[in-house]
Amino acid sequence: MTTEPAEQGTDFYLMDDFLTAEDRALRLKVRSFVDKDLLPVINGYWERAEFPFELIPKLAALGIVGTTITGYGCPGLSRLAAGIVAAEVSRGDGSVNTFLGVQSGLAMGTINMLGSEEQKERWLPAMATLDKIGAFALTEPDHGSDSVALETSARRDGDSYIINGRKRWIGNASMADVVIIFARDEEDAKVKAFVMERNGDGSYPDGYSTDVITGKIGKRAILQPDITLENLRVPADNRLPGCHSFKDVTRVLTSTRSGASWESLGHAMAAYEIAVNYAKTRQQFGKPIGSFQLVQNKLANMLSELTAMQLICFRLAVLAEDGRMSGPMASLAKMHTAQKARWICSEARDMLGGNGVLLENHVARHMTDMEVVSTYEGTDSIQSLLVGREITGLSAFS
Ligand SMILES: Cc1cc2nc3c(=O)[nH]c(=O)nc-3n(C[C@H](O)[C@H](O)[C@H](O)COP(=O)(O)OP(=O)(O)OC[C@H]3O[C@@H](n4cnc5c(N)ncnc54)[C@H](O)[C@@H]3O)c2cc1C
Repeated sequence: MTTEPAEQGTDFYLMDDFLTAEDRALRLKVRSFVDKDLLPVINGYWERAEFPFELIPKLAALGIVGTTITGYGCPGLSRLAAGIVAAEVSRGDGSVNTFLGVQSGLAMGTINMLGSEEQKERWLPAMATLDKIGAFALTEPDHGSDSVALETSARRDGDSYIINGRKRWIGNASMADVVIIFARDEEDAKVKAFVMERNGDGSYPDGYSTDVITGKIGKRAILQPDITLENLRVPADNRLPGCHSFKDVTRVLTSTRSGASWESLGHAMAAYEIAVNYAKTRQQFGKPIGSFQLVQNKLANMLSELTAMQLICFRLAVLAEDGRMSGPMASLAKMHTAQKARWICSEARDMLGGNGVLLENHVARHMTDMEVVSTYEGTDSIQSLLVGREITGLSAFS
């Protein structure tokens, strides 16, 4: 049976008080999807490193894609509701949450923030129903943390741009219908955003090819390919006019960074719940392991970090809703939540002993997924440098 989080002991400071009845109903709907549809199948997809296409209609039916975007068939959720949804999905599985994060936050979020009215009408409604899948292609083989220095180029040629370069780690890019490609305009050397679409027959245009990265230890049920762009022709009408330079890319990344904090919270909640249940039932030395002082100490420390993460996430949502969330605020939250969730997942895995390394107990999947969360959308170290620049007024980057 699907239960409210409070009953599972992850709401120690009664954060539910801040949720509306609609927020709670939405969370229960998502939780029910996680328990009934996602958890029973996800380990198989994870182990085979395949994307769970069977979940797409069910995800679409939840009405959560597009999260905070208003209009264009999107749900117009509050920042808090969007955060709660991200935490619930990642409490189930990180790959599916990343799929939604790429779709809603990165791809649709970029179109919504930087696209023209006509472009939003053209792409967002079909993306909200998952009839079209999106991807966000920023990272390159030689430019990850310093993606500001990206080398992919765009050259105007009549009514088109010709794009050349390579991208790496691009979620959904081998199955996407709409791929946002960031490239440097040869005319003014500024970073611009171009939308590549599939041809009418479903094939990809000439000059766009992908090669799925294999052998990942986390987020195995979502595919991230390398992309090669060789004289890819994109109509000039597909350039997002709101992207004038890398500063505009940063605006998108700041807004999605808070989503990564909620994602970490979801992984930590799942791992903590699994650890508590195991501690109460696993017997050693003739007693439940939860009766041992060392185990209780670990659980108390896990709960204290989990509660601190919740406080940060809830406050960040309010600041974002008010338009007062700064980039460094989002960075502090991402850094803190990723560090603490990594630690909680690792402690929880340890508490399950040998059973903790088995996929069937789910905790190892959360632990390795957290390795990815701590890396993407800006690594832990990079987030700390963004906060460090805010503290000192001195940039460690230049
Ligand atoms: C599973 C997965 C999914 C992803 N999905 C996407 C996606 O959909 N779209 C997309 O565009 N990208 C995506 N990424 C890319 C991701 O954003 C990058 O991996 C991340 O930004 C780090 O870049 P990098 O891997 O090149 O590491 P690097 O930048 O090479 O960093 C290596 C190490 O050096 C450290 N480092 C770098 N610079 C400094 C510095 N100045 N000071 C101190 N330490 C430093 C880093 O913290 C890190 O520990 C994804 C990555 C993964 C793993």
